[in-house]
Formats: sequence, C-alpha cells, structure tokens
Amino acid sequence: MAFEGLTERLQSALSGLRRKGKVSESDLRDTMREIRMALLEADVNFGVVKDFVRDVREKAAGEKVLEGLNPAQQIVKIVNDELTKMMGEQDVPLNQSPKIPTVIMMVGLQGAGKTTTAGKLALKLKNEKNARPLMIAADIYRPAAIDQLETLGQQIDVPVFSMGTDADPREIVRQGLIRANEIKADYVFIDAAGRLQIDEALMQELADIKDIAEPNEILLVVDAMTGQNATETAEGFNNRLGITGVVLTKLDGDTRGGAALSIRAVTQKPIKFVGQGEKMTDLDTFYPDRMASRILGMGDLLTLIERAQKDVDEEKAAAQAEKMRQNTFDFNDFIDQMEQVSNMGGIESIMKMLPGMANNPQVAAMQAQMDPKQIDHIKAIVMSMTPQEREQPEIINPSRRRRLAAGAGRPIVEVNRMLKQFNEMKTMMSKAMNGNTAQMEQMMGAL
Ligand code: GDP
Repeated sequence: MAFEGLTERLQSALSGLRRKGKVSESDLRDTMREIRMALLEADVNFGVVKDFVRDVREKAAGEKVLEGLNPAQQIVKIVNDELTKMMGEQDVPLNQSPKIPTVIMMVGLQGAGKTTTAGKLALKLKNEKNARPLMIAADIYRPAAIDQLETLGQQIDVPVFSMGTDADPREIVRQGLIRANEIKADYVFIDAAGRLQIDEALMQELADIKDIAEPNEILLVVDAMTGQNATETAEGFNNRLGITGVVLTKLDGDTRGGAALSIRAVTQKPIKFVGQGEKMTDLDTFYPDRMASRILGMGDLLTLIERAQKDVDEEKAAAQAEKMRQNTFDFNDFIDQMEQVSNMGGIESIMKMLPGMANNPQVAAMQAQMDPKQIDHIKAIVMSMTPQEREQPEIINPSRRRRLAAGAGRPIVEVNRMLKQFNEMKTMMSKAMNGNTAQMEQMMGAL
C-alpha cells in the first residue's frame, strides 16, 4: 500500500515525543533525526529532506513550542503543515485557454500512464464540465499505443484522431488540431510519444509538437512507484519543455512516497492530479493537505466523500450515512454499498483513506479476503436472504446460516465469516462516520 512504511516510521517518530510530558531540544533533535531517516528511506530527494528538517526544526525549536502547552501535538501540526508545503500547499486547477480548444499535451516516459491518464482526464472533464474532448494519437512508437487510445476513446465515448503509425507525429498533431476545430472540441489531448529513457530525439519531437500546438498545459505523467528516478525524469522534461503540471500515477500501488513528496519542490511545478487505479474513474484532483494527512496516517476522508458523491445518488447516500452513524446499516444497504464500492475503486482504495486505517492490520486482513470473486460470493449469500434477514441481520441463527450456505452454494464457514466481517465493517463505519474531523484531531492528539 502507498506510503505504508513512511507512515509507520513517521508515526513512530512522533509518538516517541508524545510519551514525554516535556519536550527538550535534544528530544526534538532525536525526533527530527528519525523523521529525516524515514523520508530518505521513502526515497525523498536529499535536498528536499534537508530543507524540510531545517524548516520544521526552526518552527518547533524555541520557547513558544517547546515550553508551550502540548508541545508534541504542536510539533505534529508543524510536520503536517510542512509536508503540505512540500507538496505545494494548494490544489492547482487545470489551465484554461480563453478560447476553445484548451490544448493539453501529455508527456512522460513509456509506461508512466500517459495514454490511460489522457482517457481518465477526458472522462473527468466530460462528466464534470460536460466537455467535448478530442484525443490525438501521436505516439507512433510504442506498440499498440494508438489502438489503446482508440479503445479507451470508445469506452468513454470520446473521439480519437489518428493517422496510424506511418505519419510524422508533428503532422498528426497539425491535422488533429484542424479536426478539433471542425468538430468544435473544447479540450484537445495530445498523447505524445514516450521512451524508456529521456533522449534527444524524443525531446526534439516533443519540443516541435509544443511549437505547433502551443499547448495551454503540458502535463508530465510520472509513475509514483519509480521514486527518486521520477524526480530526475521530471527535471529532465521540465528543463527542456517547461512543463506546467504533473500527474502522479499508480498511487494505489506500493510506492514509498518519494516522488509525491519531492517532485513539487524540485520542479516548482504543481502536481495537479493523482491516478489511483487502472479504471477510467480512478483519477483524483491532488490536494497537498489531504495527501499530508494521508501520509501521516490521518486518512483522507474528504477525497473519499467526494468520490462517493460523484457516483452516488445523493439522497440514498445521505440515508445510508445516517444508518451507518446509527449503526442500523442492513444488508439491503450493504448490497447498494457493494455496487458503489466497486464504482469507487474497490474496498482497498476506500479503506486506506479512512483515518487510522492505512496501517490497520484488521483492514489488511479484510482486504486480503475481499477479492472480486469473493464479492460475487458475498452477493450470492445476500441474495439468498429473506427480506427480513436483510433488514435484521441479527436474526440469522445457525439454521438460517445453513440455509444461506446451501442457497448460495458456498460453504458454511464462508457464510459465518461474511457475517462476522459485516458486523466488523458496520462498527468501523459507524466509528468513522461519527468521527470525521473530530476524530482526526483526536488521532493527532493520540500520536
Ligand atoms: P504510457 O506508455 O505512458 O501511455 O502508459 P499507459 O497509459 O499504457 O499505462 C501503463 C500501464 O499502467 C497500464 O497498464 C495502465 O493500466 C497502468 N496505469 C496507469 N495509471 C495507473 C494508476 O494510476 N494505477 C494503476 N494501478 N495502474 C495504472
């Protein structure tokens, strides 16, 4: 899971402080040494770590914090604020052209996720702004890149302009822009070529395309799993092309966090979006403050709520939230929720955004059991329930359990496990729903 090691190390460094009633200069020094190590091990750029440690130490040292009330908590807050600052402080929206179309050029190394991200972003604009995007397939080198973009285009119902692999990418872009004007597209995505490494021929081609298309936005797509290398890549592209923003992909994976934390400070260009899965809806606006909370293990409830709102019938969602809060959530809600969960990127991506859940072993155990096949089995069991059983799960006694197992064609142990998980989930949800910001503060205090 993303940031797992870093979150653990930071929490442990900070909880060391908490155990002390009073924090001395030397306690602070020790904590900062641990934080420094944690960041370096997470592959954060050396210079960035150095500045961060200096800034936190400057803010935390001195009478005001160390002699003040609750110094440990204040230091957690300073760390949180500085992490946020490291990633850019505020979210930065997509650049807009004063007249249509807004041209967005996607650049990055091969495999970073350019093509996928172009599709995700086009879909996001379509859904959120009713936009009419056009995607131009200008990556003629990567095998199947054009086919991939065309398939994505069909999937999200966005037109794709291509001229095959024999045309020159510059010509493809010229013609593509003419087409965009003809069909009055309001956003144009240029899926430009990538390479395994930066080389001069690639950079020249991208620079030419930039001159031709005069893009409003040059988005560098970077694989977050590549850590420190990602930062170097970003510098390379930025020096030559002058990127305007970054998209970090694969944050759903096992990244140590280095790229997310260094890229902004190194390039001075904002991270605008993060990719958190392979599905077309798995692209989120990047909020530095929320990411800092997530890295510190305090959860990212706001992004979770936004995702839920995007996919969900609002009235139903409000009713379900109320039921979760009151702990009266039943199996009818559960079925609805399962549908939504799969729309929202699966149980794993949801769980890790809940406060305190990123490193929770119980959640990890639940996730391990929640593979997509399992979800079908669970559905089969719920479908075998009578309406009364769905509304009052507590009446499901051993003989009913046997009937459910037979009805769903699943072993009885699975029915038992599923009911147990349901109850655990219900308790967790109720806690999370009753917590929100109060809970985050509590968790900061608990550190
Ligand atoms: P390109 O060469 O830069 O165009 O890369 P692609 O768009 O083909 O992406 C490479 C692979 O990464 C594909 O298998 C994508 O499905 C996958 N991918 C892209 N973004 C994400 C992401 O945010 N999360 C995950 N898990 N996979 C991603």
